[in-house]
Amino acid sequence: MADAPTGNRPVTTWEYSPAPETSPVVIPDQTQLYVGGKFIEPHSKKRFATVNPATEAILSNIADGDAADVDAAVSAARKALKPWGKLPASERAKYLYRIARRIQERARELAILESMDGGKPIKESRDVDIPLAAQHFFHHAGWCDKLRYAMPGTREPRPVGVCGQIIPWNFPLLMAAWKLAPALACGNTVVLKPAETTSLTAMRLAEILQECDLPPGVVNIVTGAGATGKALVDHAGVDKIAFTGSTEVGKQIAQACAKRGTRLTLELGGKSANIIFADAAIDQAIEGIVQGIWFNQGHVCCAGSRLFVEESILPEVTRKLEMRMKTLRVGDPLDKNTDIGAINSKQQLAIIEGYIAEGSREGCTVCQPNHQTLPTKGYWCRPTFMTGVQPAHVVAREEIFGPVLAVMSFRTPEEAISRANNSPYGLAAGIWTEKGSKMFDVARRLQAGVVWCNTYNQFDATSPFGGFKESGFGREGGMQGLAAYLSE
Ligand code: NAD
Repeated sequence: MADAPTGNRPVTTWEYSPAPETSPVVIPDQTQLYVGGKFIEPHSKKRFATVNPATEAILSNIADGDAADVDAAVSAARKALKPWGKLPASERAKYLYRIARRIQERARELAILESMDGGKPIKESRDVDIPLAAQHFFHHAGWCDKLRYAMPGTREPRPVGVCGQIIPWNFPLLMAAWKLAPALACGNTVVLKPAETTSLTAMRLAEILQECDLPPGVVNIVTGAGATGKALVDHAGVDKIAFTGSTEVGKQIAQACAKRGTRLTLELGGKSANIIFADAAIDQAIEGIVQGIWFNQGHVCCAGSRLFVEESILPEVTRKLEMRMKTLRVGDPLDKNTDIGAINSKQQLAIIEGYIAEGSREGCTVCQPNHQTLPTKGYWCRPTFMTGVQPAHVVAREEIFGPVLAVMSFRTPEEAISRANNSPYGLAAGIWTEKGSKMFDVARRLQAGVVWCNTYNQFDATSPFGGFKESGFGREGGMQGLAAYLSE
């Protein structure tokens, strides 16, 4: 144990013994596409490397699917649609249950793979991503034979058809589960396009689908980058697109879908407000701030990246936050003691560093713990918060998608609400107060799809998630999430 000097006060830092996750996971040199229930070579034979962001080592070479591969996948999904939709709902449910159970059985392997490929701490992939992915399949298995209760009407609701699903890199397997489980429960077939930096768990999921004897073509997985996603969006044989990713790409997809009348749901970016009132339990709120911004290196669409603190408690909150931030351990994602892993890619690290420099240029005070030595290889960013931030500053307006928090203050609930709503985004928000009446009044007036009270970043398959404004439209999860995959 050593005392590290931190401004005026000493902070105790503990020297932990490393506790690396040791199970070996076999990663193939190269991956294939999963089309029509088979693993196949990409049409172009092209591949690109996927890198471990904590070591910069190449983990595997990923198949770069092109328009011809997308076409083959859409045809396979079309062929599978009728027989899959005609299966008794209770039979469909059995497949979803099986997939959920198999994810649980292979949880350790999936968690390690997710941490190696994406950089997230093993305790998060192990305790959050993989269990929630299984939960989404379990939850939706239960819906298969109850869809008429989700969409009450005179007729049995019908599937939409062939769904093109495009996902980002921050929760790779979990986002795949969010998309696949409701689509399959409703009788649709799917072509899934994972993000280019994190395709490994999606391809492991393809193995699981094969093990579960999911009928060929019900799920097809085409790896690749933006061009592959665009080929899927532009394919005339796709009935619905579900996209999770940046607002910029979401807008392009909305235009393309509008031209052809393709059904669309969009889960896009965010710049969510976390509001701390003076009557809140401060120590609890500090944990909520930590969860809100430093969970998954801040690569979270609903990250509480704008902190609004009631003026009278601002000094106490920033002092306690600084102390707590210094206890966070940055380093090897496979170490069970790690709180903050590697930034997902070199490009994303450059973006985050650019925003931190921009905050300094704008006159904000940048606070980072500098007592820890970072690994020499890999992409790392210390947890960061900035004070002296004005609402007009770039760091208060734009999504950084990294472990960087903009701290601002307010004097009245009215001011807190208007500052929180002063954003093109509307994904999530947090409120910290002891007063139930204030909680509900403020929550009602916030333009956010999800509002957490005295907690943050809680996810559950039963609970709908989605945004307003430039954060997108449509919901995922719960009964509401089924609507996107059903037509009357
Ligand atoms: P991105 O938009 O660059 O990429 C997302 C996916 O879209 C990737 O699979 C990518 O290959 C694909 N893609 C890129 N260009 C495309 C195009 N022209 N047509 C079709 N597909 C294309 O986003 P990202 O950097 O991977 O992810 C980060 C963003 O995702 C952040 O803005 C974050 O807030 C958002 N996100 C939102 C949610 C949510 O639920 N609202 C969840 C996670 C991430």
